[in-house]
Amino acid sequence: MLTGKIAVVTGASRGIGRAVALKFAKEGASVIINYNGSQDKALEVKQEIEAQGQSAAIYQCDVSDFDKCETFIAEIIKEYGRIDILVNNAGITRDGLLMKMSEEDFDKVIDTNLKGAFNTIRFASRQMLKQRAGRIINMASVVGVMGNAGQTNYAASKAGIIGLTKAAARELASRGVTVNAIAPGFIETDMTKILPEKVKEASVSQIPLGKFGQAEHVAAAAAFLASEEAEYITGQVLHVDGGMAM
Ligand code: NAP
Repeated sequence: MLTGKIAVVTGASRGIGRAVALKFAKEGASVIINYNGSQDKALEVKQEIEAQGQSAAIYQCDVSDFDKCETFIAEIIKEYGRIDILVNNAGITRDGLLMKMSEEDFDKVIDTNLKGAFNTIRFASRQMLKQRAGRIINMASVVGVMGNAGQTNYAASKAGIIGLTKAAARELASRGVTVNAIAPGFIETDMTKILPEKVKEASVSQIPLGKFGQAEHVAAAAAFLASEEAEYITGQVLHVDGGMAM
């Protein structure tokens, strides 16, 4: 259970982040739902949580913006006095073959997926160190471990997330702050909905469990890593991928 915990989930307006926010609320946490462009969707998540009798707030912040992340985290700490759980989930794809990829598409994905996680950890970790407790969970991907043609930018960002996770885990461990990553496989969300049927069929054939995952599968792993029971787990990458990367 996450009773009374203050949890910040980035990119919680849709997909996996939404499922994580709902799961954390169900387990008793107060959830800060970060979003970038989808205010209506973020509000729906807030209302769904409130309908369950839990508290939630929405907060607009582009996680790729260092200064805005400083303000975002400072305002959360001012309002709630602490941050117990930080989930860096916000992420985008801008797929394309290496030789055709624009500099902008490379930078945009790295700035959102990798620098975005650095930005929030940079400011939230100070508070967690003061508390001598905290849980940081970063969303990596099976692609960061295995690579994927057409996703050099995305794969680099997710491999970077794994390195960031391990380095931060080592830096923060002495004060009881754990840092772990989750590497989802193929999860049914808006991000994967846009893929051509052919690619989807080829992907499912590589999944030992023979089906795509759901956002709730990832949320369950996040809830475990955020729990008291996971206090002795840090610097790990938990694969939620139907066996893809074994
Ligand atoms: P999604 O359905 O496309 O949702 C992405 C979320 O990220 C949205 O809530 C979006 O918010 C938010 N976001 C994007 N850019 C942002 C920014 N600059 N600042 C703040 N929020 C931002 O994606 P998803 O499938 O749930 O993926 C969530 C995470 O899991 C990502 O890190 C992704 O790389 C990772 N992942 C997904 C899969 C998969 O198969 N789906 C597999 C492995 C890893 P707005 O709509 O409000 O802009």
